[in-house]
Order: sequence, then C-alpha cells, then structure tokens
Amino acid sequence: MDLRLTPSEEAFRREVRTWLERNLPPGWGTPSYRPPRTPEEQVAFAREWQRKLFEGGWAGLTWPKEYGGRGATVIEQLIYNEEYARFAAPDILCLKIGLSLVGPTLIACGTEEQKRRFLAPILRGEEIWCQGFSEPNAGSDLASVRTRAELCGDEFVVNGQKIWTSVARYADWCMLVTRTRFSESKHHGLTFLLVDMKSPGISVRPLREMTGEAWFNEVFFEGVRVPRSNVVGEIDRGWDVVLTTLGHERAGTTPHVRLQAEARRLARLARSTSVGQETAASNPLIRQKVAQSWIETHILRLSAYRNVTRLSRTGIPGPEGSILKLFWSELEQRLKETAFEILGMRGNLTEEDRWCADGGFWCHELLWSRSATIYAGTSEIQRNIIAQRVLGLPRG
Ligand SMILES: Cc1cc2nc3c(=O)[nH]c(=O)nc-3n(C[C@H](O)[C@H](O)[C@H](O)COP(=O)(O)OP(=O)(O)OC[C@H]3O[C@@H](n4cnc5c(N)ncnc54)[C@H](O)[C@@H]3O)c2cc1C
Repeated sequence: MDLRLTPSEEAFRREVRTWLERNLPPGWGTPSYRPPRTPEEQVAFAREWQRKLFEGGWAGLTWPKEYGGRGATVIEQLIYNEEYARFAAPDILCLKIGLSLVGPTLIACGTEEQKRRFLAPILRGEEIWCQGFSEPNAGSDLASVRTRAELCGDEFVVNGQKIWTSVARYADWCMLVTRTRFSESKHHGLTFLLVDMKSPGISVRPLREMTGEAWFNEVFFEGVRVPRSNVVGEIDRGWDVVLTTLGHERAGTTPHVRLQAEARRLARLARSTSVGQETAASNPLIRQKVAQSWIETHILRLSAYRNVTRLSRTGIPGPEGSILKLFWSELEQRLKETAFEILGMRGNLTEEDRWCADGGFWCHELLWSRSATIYAGTSEIQRNIIAQRVLGLPRG
C-alpha cells in the first residue's frame, strides 16, 4: 500500500476542491442555509445537484467514458469522495442505489443495449432506482426469494412482494431479484430483472422508520409485465449478478471522512457540555471513548486505502469489503452512543425542541445509526463472509 499521491493525483484533488468551492449551493454549510425539508423537496434537490455534478464532469468517475463517465481511476474516486465528504457536500440518498449499485452492476453484467439505455440517465440524475432484493422471508438469506417471474412469450409476468425497499416511492426503475425456477439449490433459478416502476400492477406502501422518516417501502407486484430484454445476465443465473451488486454494496466507498468529522464534533460536544461544575471532557472515561473514536476513524481510513489499493489491481470488489462494512458500521454506533452518554436525557431532544443540543443532530444520528449494522448485510452475515470467504474457515 503506497499512501503517497502522484503529482497528477494531487492536481486532481485541487481540481475537485476548486469545483466544489465554486459550485456548492449558495450558503451551503452556513447557519443561514435552508436545506430542503420534505422528502419531495429532497428528491428534487438531489436530481438538480446530480445534474450539476454531471455537467461538471463529476458523475460516474470510474465509469467508462462511452457511457457518460469520466474513466477515472479508483484512487481518483477515493480522492473525490474524501473531498466531497470534507466539504460535507449534499448527501444524495435517493440517487445512491443507481449510482453505486445499478451502474456498476450493468457495467459488469449488462448488455450493450442496457448500458446505452440506463447508464447516462442515472448519471444525469434523471432516473431514480430502487433495489428490490429483500422479502419478508428473504433478507440475510436472500437466495430464498419467492417473488415469481414466469416467462410468457417475450415477457415475464411478475407476482410477489418486496420489503424494506428504500426510495421505492420516488423510483423510476427497480432492480428486481425474482424466482424463475424452483430447483434443488435455491441459488439456481433466480433471474435479475430491470423493472419500470410505472408498470401496471405495482403498488408501493411506505414504512415509517424510527427517525420519523419514511424512506422504506413495501412493494407489491401483481401480474407485472417485464420485457425479456430487461434480464441482466442469464435467465435462472441471476445469483451471479446479485453477488456483483452485493460486492459493490459492501466494498463501496467507506465513510471515513464523514466519521472523522463526526469524531471531531463529538470532541467539541464533550468540551462544551456541562456536567455539574465541569465539562463532560473532564471525565476520564468520556475522554477515553472520544479518543478511541478518533483512533478508530484513522484505522478505518487506512483500511479503506488498503481496500482501494487492492481494487485498483483487480477491478472487482472481493469479500474483504465485509471487513470494512463491519468495522465502520459498528464504529458509527459506538461513536453515537458516546454522544448520548455525554448528553444524557437531553440527547433525546430532536431539532424541533429549543433545548436540543447541537441542532438535534445526535438524536437523529443515534436512531439512524441502528440501521448501519443491518443494511447491506447484517454484522452477523459480514462475520460469516469474513470467516468463510476471507479466512477460509470451515462452516460450523
Ligand atoms: C436502512 C435500511 C435500508 C434498506 N434498504 C433496502 C433496499 O433498498 N432494498 C432491499 O432489498 N433491502 C433493503 N434493506 C433490507 C436489508 O437488506 C435487510 O434488512 C437485511 O439483509 C437483513 O435481513 P432481514 O431484515 O430479513 O433480517 P433477517 O435475515 O431475518 O435476520 C434477523 C437476524 O438474524 C441474523 N441472522 C440471519 N441469518 C444469519 C446467519 N446465517 N448467521 C448468523 N446470523 C444470522 C441476522 O444477523 C439478524 O440479526 C434495508 C435495510 C435497512 C436497515
């Protein structure tokens, strides 16, 4: 692992920085900035911001140029991500599935026609995607999906239900894992489809999360017709495509810069929160936990660099991505729990309450961080992958 950047990589970093300085929304990051409030406003904002990134040449950095990407290296992608997080630039949640999962999956497994049709609209923020993988009885055990797709002529007819489908209410398209054949092995007989969310027979029901937001949904498919040309990979061999998507989901960029910024914010919180006559920072146990968070964010950064070095050699995310996912998701929770220890009961106050600390940031974050060890594979599943596929340990 070589941590030094080449002169051209340094120049690239400066270019990203300058562009962000000039193009972030006016007032961004200042107390006077009014962020979009409702989900609908956030979606409209995300589309607009993504279009601006695309026009600036900052969308799909590592995607091939012929599909609208920049053809950059994975090191440049890492530099870009670091700068983006350093500026705390907009978190375009609703577009992430298209950008970080659908795009890489289609580049690896899609037909030429699919790449030409779908990649550029993702980069321009024109089409929002959702991920129709989990079902009520198929989450960790994803290969158990039962949503049926039956081939009738040149179309599949899809019936079934998905759950926990983030942003489905706003999505134009869904990457859907279906069962086309019941065979001895549940990993065989799956087919990966691209489904137009405006197709007749699809209904979406929002699910409220403990943060009060409703990004999750249940999605029902009743006789939904999907053209055969929307199969990614081969019919009945969809598991290979699923593994490609999951590899990108787990080994994708790590949030080390964001977590470093949050560790700094945690230290400020400890220094500014009074406990009796003193501040929380004068408590040695709190000091130790804050320092531990800081150390762990640095370990995460170095692990991310090692992962990128490997990725730049192979081009394919390997099972080692599970180590990063496991580490950052649990670090994120520990960091937020320390904030709660500092704040005590006041940590429960949300941004609507005038007595809340730090704009209600920690209350929302503590709640949201509970999901980090569930989505993209739970911690137990990451540990299983590390044991079996990284360390080569026998199955119990
Ligand atoms: C914020 C968020 C966003 C999400 N977005 C999406 C989305 O857009 N699309 C989508 O398809 N899904 C999405 N999910 C769903 C997510 O992928 C699943 O919740 C996850 O895979 C776990 O599945 P499950 O909820 O069915 O839990 P289960 O699989 O039922 O697991 C229950 C518990 O059993 C444990 N367990 C299960 N199997 C094993 C095993 N073999 N060994 C050890 N322990 C095991 C798990 O670790 C867990 O603790 C999202 C989830 C969250 C939290």
